[in-house]
Amino acid sequence: MSGRPTSRPSGSRGTPGTAWQKTTAKPTTGAKPKSASPKKAANKAGTSTALVPRSKQGAIATRKGMAPIPMKKQDGMLVPEGYTVRKIEPAKNYDVVSFARAMNPDFAPRVKKLFDPEREAAIAAQKSGVYIGWRCPEFTWDCQRVSSMSKCFCGHLLGEHNSYNGHSVRVPCRQPGCSCKAFAWIPSRPEEIGEFWFARRRDFDPEAWRAKCRCKHTHEDHDPNGMRRCKMRGCGCSVFDSPFLCAACDQHWEVHETFFETESMRRDKGLPYGEEYLPFHEMPELRNIVLTGEETDDSVYRALTEGEGAIPHTNVRAIADNNTPFSFGGGGRGGGRSGGFRPTYD
Ligand SMILES: [Zn+2]
Ligand SMILES: [Zn+2]
Ligand SMILES: [Zn+2]
Ligand SMILES: [Zn+2]
Ligand SMILES: [Zn+2]
Repeated sequence: MSGRPTSRPSGSRGTPGTAWQKTTAKPTTGAKPKSASPKKAANKAGTSTALVPRSKQGAIATRKGMAPIPMKKQDGMLVPEGYTVRKIEPAKNYDVVSFARAMNPDFAPRVKKLFDPEREAAIAAQKSGVYIGWRCPEFTWDCQRVSSMSKCFCGHLLGEHNSYNGHSVRVPCRQPGCSCKAFAWIPSRPEEIGEFWFARRRDFDPEAWRAKCRCKHTHEDHDPNGMRRCKMRGCGCSVFDSPFLCAACDQHWEVHETFFETESMRRDKGLPYGEEYLPFHEMPELRNIVLTGEETDDSVYRALTEGEGAIPHTNVRAIADNNTPFSFGGGGRGGGRSGGFRPTYD
């Protein structure tokens, strides 16, 4: 039913010298893949990454026409579904985009749109020095880059919560009538749980979509505190239990946490910061697509990393309050986050 792959990269987080490779595993049941925990890519020297199909005909044949881009996020990277990492030669670097283009002619604009919120979160973090990441506590990467436009379990945006800085631990909501005591990122677009087909339905309303619990009620129907029991009359649900998995790590929403950190805290923990926090930092073509919509256009990247206006690596500035505007590089549109989850069926 889902057409999900049954395997995932053995490496993670843009391991240099690796390529996304078509796996032979064929998803026929839609069952959730079982796999090992992702490993940290210790090495950061940029050699190359490339998208190389093991079976080109097979891969393209299954992606004809205007089917939704079969992408998912893994360890912070968007990956065409069914691909995994393997070592390749640097010369094959360009295959990343050429193959992706062959799969889908509007690949670039759609990837850019998918990553708009995370790009804005990354740029805002680099400029403010306040990094907000959603991940399992032991991870050395974020499953999701969070911005003030990101949605909380309580249904309100981070920017509608109390002021925060890089040392915040629990950021309560300040909306009237909301009891939320701590911001917790929740997916707000169906694409974020891998449900790309939703957006193609004629009657789809992106504003109305909500992530749901197994009890079928949305996160907003659940108590934002404690075990997050369901508040709907007659529902015996005592704890929010997500029927979807994080595509970056294959784990449930509940085992993730939202972390507020400064650049130096991230450095100490071995987490990416500065320009390495940009989506696809290790893959220049995809990085450019996310930044500009064009794989050959590195103007935004250069503006962010060189000369005046470059990302300040040592500027760890706290956000004083919610009136301190974040600077969203892309213009600050709302509309949800990217990547992160995919559904399971049981
Ligand atoms: Zn709230
Ligand atoms: Zn909240
Ligand atoms: Zn429930
Ligand atoms: Zn319920
Ligand atoms: Zn995750």
